[in-house]
Amino acid sequence: MFRSLKELSDQNEYIRKTAELLDLLISTQQRTIELTEENIQLKKSVESSRTEIESLKKAKEEFAMYDLIDVGDANSKVYQHRETEHQACPKCFEDGKIKTLQRSRFYLICKACNTHYNLVQGSVR
Ligand SMILES: [Zn+2]
Repeated sequence: MFRSLKELSDQNEYIRKTAELLDLLISTQQRTIELTEENIQLKKSVESSRTEIESLKKAKEEFAMYDLIDVGDANSKVYQHRETEHQACPKCFEDGKIKTLQRSRFYLICKACNTHYNLVQGSVR
């Protein structure tokens, strides 16, 4: 039994269209996987930014607890904590680090950057 040319043509068209749809389905699935991976990366990035913002907020609050005070001559300004009254190195402070100064008889010394700040007796407790 022979199929008519019209039937064969319709069947070929059907097969061709089915193959096109399968290609489209596969590429859509691949794109979905790519977008899912991209979404995971973006969520990680947002989470890491949130953590960074939180730590910057905490650091900002911590830095706000210090006042710049005179402890000796013009070059001897240091940061002093409002509550605990310990002194912190202004040089390190500008670099975003709070480094407590060690006290000797005539100086306050930063062990982190080795800066000495002249100390007038009685200027700090
Ligand atoms: Zn320092």
